[in-house]
Amino acid sequence: MKLLLISPRSSEKKSPVGFKVPQVALQIIAALTPEDFKISMVDEHITDIDFSQDYDLVGISIMTATAKRGYHLAKIFQNKGSKVVFGGIHASVMPEEAINYGDAVVIGEAEGIWPSLVEDFKRNTLKKYYKSIEPDLSTAPLPKRDAKIDRSVWGVKWPGFYTTKGCPYDCEFCSVSNVYGKKIRTLPIPLVIQDIENANSKLYLSLDDNIVANSRYAKNLFQEMAHLNIEWGGQCTVTIAKDDELLRLCRRSGCRGLFIGLESVSMTSLGKMRKTLKSMEENEDAIKKIQDAGILFHPSFVFGLDDDTKAVFDDTLEFLHRNRITTTTFNILTPYPGTRLYRRLKQEGRLISEDWNNYNHYTVTFRPKNMTERELGEGYHSLRKEFYSLGNICRRIARLSEISSPDIAQLMYAVFNNIAGRQTLIDSFKTLKMAIKNHSDRN
Ligand code: SF4
Repeated sequence: MKLLLISPRSSEKKSPVGFKVPQVALQIIAALTPEDFKISMVDEHITDIDFSQDYDLVGISIMTATAKRGYHLAKIFQNKGSKVVFGGIHASVMPEEAINYGDAVVIGEAEGIWPSLVEDFKRNTLKKYYKSIEPDLSTAPLPKRDAKIDRSVWGVKWPGFYTTKGCPYDCEFCSVSNVYGKKIRTLPIPLVIQDIENANSKLYLSLDDNIVANSRYAKNLFQEMAHLNIEWGGQCTVTIAKDDELLRLCRRSGCRGLFIGLESVSMTSLGKMRKTLKSMEENEDAIKKIQDAGILFHPSFVFGLDDDTKAVFDDTLEFLHRNRITTTTFNILTPYPGTRLYRRLKQEGRLISEDWNNYNHYTVTFRPKNMTERELGEGYHSLRKEFYSLGNICRRIARLSEISSPDIAQLMYAVFNNIAGRQTLIDSFKTLKMAIKNHSDRN
């Protein structure tokens, strides 16, 4: 029997830059599948699907931005006689939508559920929904590594690995704790080490939402990772800077960059989030501490929070210059289904688009409170244009040596990330023009 596992891209076209976060979801499902299946995996950001092939079963992992493409692919394969199963974060929060396009939906994580789904498929008794409840990671299978779907940057392989699931916070715009639970579950450290070794690279990305969420576990993990002689980047909260030992071990384990959701430079907005420090001075001290530890500090910001005014764009740019930030991520607030934000904006009648293709972080999909949709779109685009001007990119790269004694991986990341940011300006400009037109049409 033949199984095809797909991670769709977000549009008909491949994205202009290959800078997409690696993932292990397909490899985990492959590891859970019985041996009598011949498995093919396609990450559409990297390779194309061979539509000339026939498959008995097709599994499609969808996020909100890739949902429509996933539904389109499902139709193609159903017409060819395959059964289609959806999984992933969007299918987990919108199972009633996803089932309209497939034969079954996995709600939550595949561990513990996939083997019985496959048995049902073989007996031709597939159910509509398969729900898993926070499976125990101590018995989790390791991802079945497949070099064909590992990401690489300029020829350097860059696989992902994970160590925990779940998040104790409950940020209004995020569905992680809703889908994976509030309890932090940890993969046993020997399994993490084995998985990293199986992926056989020198450069990795941790896929954890917060790799230091359980600091005792993280310290033990970092001590073991230090023997691997690898370099990696990952995601955590700014609170890592409060624990000197944790920060030191993190760097010693090979960490060269941390993606940290600072979300806003407005104290009013920050005051409403539990995951950040309580004053801007504290946040700026934390940034310096992380940079001084030799770790690239990559903050991410969201724009369009209820307390944001037009001033937030200039304030953010000034903050980035002041704190010598080399790389960053700018997002327009996106009310993902399954989040408290989505429910609130829907209730307040402020959602202006539920076309999931627009849920891409650079399209305005709701009515902001303290500016117009147009002001949000224009402010966002101008900020990116300024940050990614050639002069500013060169200045930031040149100053990288001042902040963290960068090694080649950090330098490569900084250059690549800034080039990628510049490339995506064209996409965000097109979206902005469309948003302005829609705004004028509505008013
Ligand atoms: S801390 Fe990060 S993962 Fe956790 S709820 Fe907030 S945004 Fe989501």
